Amino acid sequence: MNTVFPPAPSVTVPVVGTNAQFPVHRIYCVGRNYVDHAQEMGHTGREPPFFFMKPADAVLVAAPGCVTPLPYPGLTKNLHYEIELVVAIGTGGKNISVKQAESHIFGYAVGLDMTRRDLQNDMKAQGRPWCIGKGFDHSAPMGLITPKEAAGDISHAAISLQVNNVLRQNSTVEQLIWNMAETIAELSAAWELQPGDLIYSGTPAGVGAVVPGDTLKGCISGLTDIALKVV
Ligand code: MN
Repeated sequence: MNTVFPPAPSVTVPVVGTNAQFPVHRIYCVGRNYVDHAQEMGHTGREPPFFFMKPADAVLVAAPGCVTPLPYPGLTKNLHYEIELVVAIGTGGKNISVKQAESHIFGYAVGLDMTRRDLQNDMKAQGRPWCIGKGFDHSAPMGLITPKEAAGDISHAAISLQVNNVLRQNSTVEQLIWNMAETIAELSAAWELQPGDLIYSGTPAGVGAVVPGDTLKGCISGLTDIALKVV
């Protein structure tokens, strides 16, 4: 194809147990999807799900067994971590039923929805879009994708985040307000899901700030851990 400049390389994430890569299409994120986190953000915790997006190339793959550098972004003085279960879509569709949703899932990964909280809060206060707070470069670190057959039932999996070896977030996937199937059903009513879509499903309580030099370790039982160092 004759293009006016070389196209950007496609964004891919390695899949556990194979040499194949998962090509990323879009990144959808669910807001306030754990009651305790919704409460810490000043909300009741009972409201319909809502969504925002990050660009696909915000993905930063955190390979197992090493500490991946996470660049501290510009413009912020309050970079927050949010540990999240990432759902990787293998089969697209629109208006997917809750009952059918599971069959559209390829696999799962551990992810971080990094957030410039000060910019997000400024935008919220002005009734403006959150993009600058959520959709910046390297804002979507994630680990390798484990195919669902290999991950087993993760609907009750423990999810945790340590900062500098201190436990900051600790919950279970069971605590999701809108579970994975319900989230897929809701999302697919608004957008036609495509193979390669990633869904960051929301974070439990305990979010907080990191600064350069801090290390982050994220775990979801059954999935590959991630470790990053803010630089
Ligand atoms: Mn989040």
